[in-house]
Amino acid sequence: MENHPVISLDDVIRPTHLVVDLKIIKENFRRIKEAVKPSKVMPILKANAYGHGLIKIAQTLEKEGADYLGVAFLEEGILLRQQGIKMPILVLGGIWGNQIPTFLKYNLTMTASSIDKARQIDSEARKQNTIAKVHLKIDTGMERIGVHYYNAPKFFDEAVKLKNIGIEGIYSHFANADICNTDYTKLQFDRFMQSLDYFERLDYAPVIRHISNSGGILQLPEANLDMVRPGIMLYGVYPSQEIKRTIEVNPALTWKSLVIYFKVIKAGHPVGYGSKWIGEKDVRAVTVPVGYGDGYMRRMSGKARVIINEKKYPVIGTISMDQIVVNIDCDSAYNGDEVILIGKQGKSEITVEDLARWAETIPYEILTNINTRVPRIYID
Ligand SMILES: *Cc1c(COP(=O)(O)O)cnc(C)c1O
Repeated sequence: MENHPVISLDDVIRPTHLVVDLKIIKENFRRIKEAVKPSKVMPILKANAYGHGLIKIAQTLEKEGADYLGVAFLEEGILLRQQGIKMPILVLGGIWGNQIPTFLKYNLTMTASSIDKARQIDSEARKQNTIAKVHLKIDTGMERIGVHYYNAPKFFDEAVKLKNIGIEGIYSHFANADICNTDYTKLQFDRFMQSLDYFERLDYAPVIRHISNSGGILQLPEANLDMVRPGIMLYGVYPSQEIKRTIEVNPALTWKSLVIYFKVIKAGHPVGYGSKWIGEKDVRAVTVPVGYGDGYMRRMSGKARVIINEKKYPVIGTISMDQIVVNIDCDSAYNGDEVILIGKQGKSEITVEDLARWAETIPYEILTNINTRVPRIYID
């Protein structure tokens, strides 16, 4: 077989790349906004916007009229500010005392998850003669961060006394909103509402109340309250297989590569590390430059499939750090042919859920593991 050029000289990107369709992200966002209105929407952009690229997704959603952005930690918020994002940004994770001045410097909204944290924020803000924007975090059944719902009244009593924190929001987080049975989600919601009842009786200024993630938005609309926090569904992926798909969203990401090598593997000649795959007959095979170093998880070895020329073929042997081998059996494929790792080609499709099944994990982990060494290309 003759060698076809893999990439032309003016094409400098790696053959393995992601294509993110911003039109689809915007459409997903509009559908969520429409479904929850008049509630506000805080798109969740943690972990590089679930692998889709933090900055580009933030810029797109800012233009699209998102009310707030949510990220996991300080550094993500700083990156957004450095790239010129002006809208409110809530950092959902815990804070360290010595980070507070930086939060203030970049005008990032802090999560106060205990009375101690609230006091630290207050005292730093007083030093700087400013009012820190905070959302108080109530734990209604996740046992991660936040003040237990049964201690919320004491927390609120103390927090409202602090003159240099501006309590802009109160929130909690669902632990089981991705399963069909909503009993526990409802229990958490009731606990949250009881806490809020107490806060409202303090006759304090109204706050933004929020608790719902994708699972809650899809299954428990009464929990939308003043704002919702969609993450995975914004990217067109549902939190689980069993969840009710009450809002239609579509996947925005395609993971592509190219065939870079063709060969015939003789019967009895093993493939890859550990020689785990040995054919009983000669097969045609191609090598594709992607591996677990990109987030194409090694655990999928022996199970994963890819699409070439609109047909699905098995990945054989152990997935390496940078390369995989695909068995095309008796078919043909040429250097430079497109390989779809996630996405559609003709009638064939491989979904994030397929990869999650092969890797025995959840779609979230597949998306957030796609490494930053994989270039992102945006279409609109
Ligand atoms: C990650 C996260 C979300 C978004 O969850 P999805 O299931 O992706 O919608 C919302 N709120 C908090 C606090 C989170 O950590």
